[in-house]
Amino acid sequence: MRLDLHIHSTASDGSWSPEAVVRGAAKGGLDVIALTDHDTTAGFRLAAAVGRELDVQVVAGIEVSSTFEGRDVHVLGFFIDADAPAMVAYGERAVRRREERMREMVARLASSGIEVTYEAVEAAAGPDRVVIGRPHLATALVEAGYAESISDAFNALIGDDSEAFVPTRLLDPGGAVELIIEASGIPIWAHPPGDLVDKLLPGLLEAGLRGLEVYRPRHRQSQVLRFEAICRSSDLLMSGGSDWHGPERGAALGDFHVTADEVEGLLEAGGL
Ligand code: AMP
Ligand code: ZN
Ligand code: FE
Ligand code: FE
Repeated sequence: MRLDLHIHSTASDGSWSPEAVVRGAAKGGLDVIALTDHDTTAGFRLAAAVGRELDVQVVAGIEVSSTFEGRDVHVLGFFIDADAPAMVAYGERAVRRREERMREMVARLASSGIEVTYEAVEAAAGPDRVVIGRPHLATALVEAGYAESISDAFNALIGDDSEAFVPTRLLDPGGAVELIIEASGIPIWAHPPGDLVDKLLPGLLEAGLRGLEVYRPRHRQSQVLRFEAICRSSDLLMSGGSDWHGPERGAALGDFHVTADEVEGLLEAGGL
């Protein structure tokens, strides 16, 4: 069995619709995927329906944004109840806050002479987007000629360390874990930043964190070993996924997968 438990769609900053994602997953030989859009579950229903047709199991997921000392910390929620009142309220707040934050980033860029409009960012995000995010801004910057590529835009203009960066400030990391639990989900720390693990893990465990995202295409072997060891010693679940956003980042769905063995505990905890 091949699984990919971290995928984005046009509901957030991915470039394929939920339907296209599931079709791409089937084509790439994946049996189980989780749609984990930033701060929204809007793509799940459609993805699940297409999944039933194509025999791809779609897990209800989300990647909740949080901020710690001005840095992004992302928490994945698996098997969540998208209709839980706390999740619905959070989703509405996230839409508004992300729009406000994007306007702030556009204003900061303008003050250093980089003229990209909020409308251009919205156009880059397309009609299906529920939440707006930095990759949309990166696309608008490329289209306006301020960067050669998305990654160039991040490196030169809108990365976490840039002048223009405004954190989402939606929740703190413990709050993200608690939100997922309130929505009956399983909270897993996404791509844990190496330098924050020791600092944040005790508090996150106290909040109810259940595991770490161990397997990713960009994790080095030393990181995988470190995260596996932490999971074993703290009795944590292991997850894995590609964090796929679209083919333009160089990989197809299915190029990366985890096996049922690698994420066995998580599947069991979710009743799969
Ligand atoms: P946001 O939640 O709006 O701050 O956007 C976060 C998203 O930006 C991540 O999920 C990635 O898709 C993208 N991202 C962050 N850093 C980079 C980077 N250095 N290069 C390319 N994409 C990035
Ligand atoms: Zn993203
Ligand atoms: Fe992330
Ligand atoms: Fe992601």
